[in-house]
Amino acid sequence: MLSLTAYSGVAQIGGNQVLVEDGDTRFFFDFGLPYAQRYLYFEEYLNPRPGAGLLDPLEMGLLPPLKGIYRDDLEPPGSDLWARFSSRPGFRELSVDGVLLSHAHMDHAGYISFLRPDIPIYTSPTTAFVLKAMQDSGKSDFEKETCYIVPRRANGYVLAADKKAKAQGRPYRLLAPDRPGPAADQFWGSAPGGRGLDGVPLDLGQHVGGLRVRHFPVDHSIPGACALGVETSAGWVLYTGDLRFHGRRGRSTRQFVEAASALRPVVLLGEGSNVGEAAGTTEEEVYANARRVVDGVRGLVVADFAPRNVERLQAFHRIAVETGRKLLLLDRDIYLLRALHLAEPSAPDLTADPCVRLYNEPRASEPGWLREVRSWVGERMVSREDIHRDQAAFILCFSFFDLNEFPSLRPAPGSTYVHSSSEAYNEEQAMDFRRLLNWLEHFGMDFVGDSHLHHRFRDTGQCPSGCPFCSAPQGTVHLGPGFHASGHASGGELVEMIKAIHPKVFVPVHTEKPEYFREALAGTGIEVHLPQAGVPMALP
Ligand SMILES: [Zn+2]
Repeated sequence: MLSLTAYSGVAQIGGNQVLVEDGDTRFFFDFGLPYAQRYLYFEEYLNPRPGAGLLDPLEMGLLPPLKGIYRDDLEPPGSDLWARFSSRPGFRELSVDGVLLSHAHMDHAGYISFLRPDIPIYTSPTTAFVLKAMQDSGKSDFEKETCYIVPRRANGYVLAADKKAKAQGRPYRLLAPDRPGPAADQFWGSAPGGRGLDGVPLDLGQHVGGLRVRHFPVDHSIPGACALGVETSAGWVLYTGDLRFHGRRGRSTRQFVEAASALRPVVLLGEGSNVGEAAGTTEEEVYANARRVVDGVRGLVVADFAPRNVERLQAFHRIAVETGRKLLLLDRDIYLLRALHLAEPSAPDLTADPCVRLYNEPRASEPGWLREVRSWVGERMVSREDIHRDQAAFILCFSFFDLNEFPSLRPAPGSTYVHSSSEAYNEEQAMDFRRLLNWLEHFGMDFVGDSHLHHRFRDTGQCPSGCPFCSAPQGTVHLGPGFHASGHASGGELVEMIKAIHPKVFVPVHTEKPEYFREALAGTGIEVHLPQAGVPMALP
């Protein structure tokens, strides 16, 4: 019998952890970090304690109480974890055959970190390599051990990284027709630091437990995203992951819809992040709007977009080529681009592109991954002094968290900050946006970005003094919309997609408005089942 249990991602965006059970086969669609739930209790400086392992995430409901699926080395010393959590609603003992992972965003992949290191992860080569690049070049963080784990051992009452142990790789099963080449194997098996990595060689995956798996590349704001399907005893069960139609890979999403409808699925699990919103700006419009702006800038251009949004990076690369500027990337971006090229050798290798430069940020130490980046770019490194001297020669790809480089860079007045990211969702992000405006005002820089950011501040009376929207002379601020494109399809597009696929049952996840689909699909013959967190649904 087929049964689905959504543990997270129910009536909230992100944190998908959907257990599928069919006979003896059990697997998850995604195992994400549930941001909404996490923000209820934690923030930047108040975090789950690495020394307490599984205790904090289990206690605060970030992980479901499922004994048998988590890392043994994260059981906190001196306590019987499961004696405590066995009375939680939904507690079960469980073993699973794998996680089918749709893409590398942390709200879908992040909490793989807590799973036993022998549970196979089925995903696209690109998603696997994006995760490896992120983990290698990021800060060590026990909530982000998606590709390999650093074993912990009890040190008194706390868990600490075992100094002598090698990192231990997770088994990844690639959803691809062919194995990647030797260079990809080498990247996968290499350790980023001095610890060493006990890696698990990459393998291909066609079955999870006894069931056939299919994947369908889709368009989303990160490369490698795919929808997934499993042929169960009741028929095909499909899962959209996150998707959209308005990026460069929109055709892939349409091909998924066609292929999915041909399978006559019994169940479709689907995202609904943007229901209630009209179709917004497309990636092509973002390119055109940003191009117009860069044409008129005589100083430095700073482009701010989400770090793994490679399609946006490619748009700014195109603009750099067309306007005779060089595209300046951070070391971790170059490392990610190289990983992408290894996963998909047919894609152009931007790290070797003559227009691309490495922003040479001095660092106190040089870990292995950084040494590699510097060897790839060779002479194509640019210092802060080079940039200061010749500001009109560059487009610098930065995020908010790189603003503290400005005192060294000294952007000239009239330089422009292109804000090509999503709007502030919460108070913390709103405060960061005010800080951003303060930085720009300090250096006399112009801001370009979507206007709703500003309206939100004005409406709440939180506009900082010197806000360029309020006080700058006309002409220095370009108001959008049009500098950011969402990673998600609109409600209308999703409804059309579901009607075309025509599953027997549609189950909305990754949405704050699951009821929307009840109304929108009424009279179509498609049943809409709204999941309840942790409660199994027998299907169909
Ligand atoms: Zn996503």
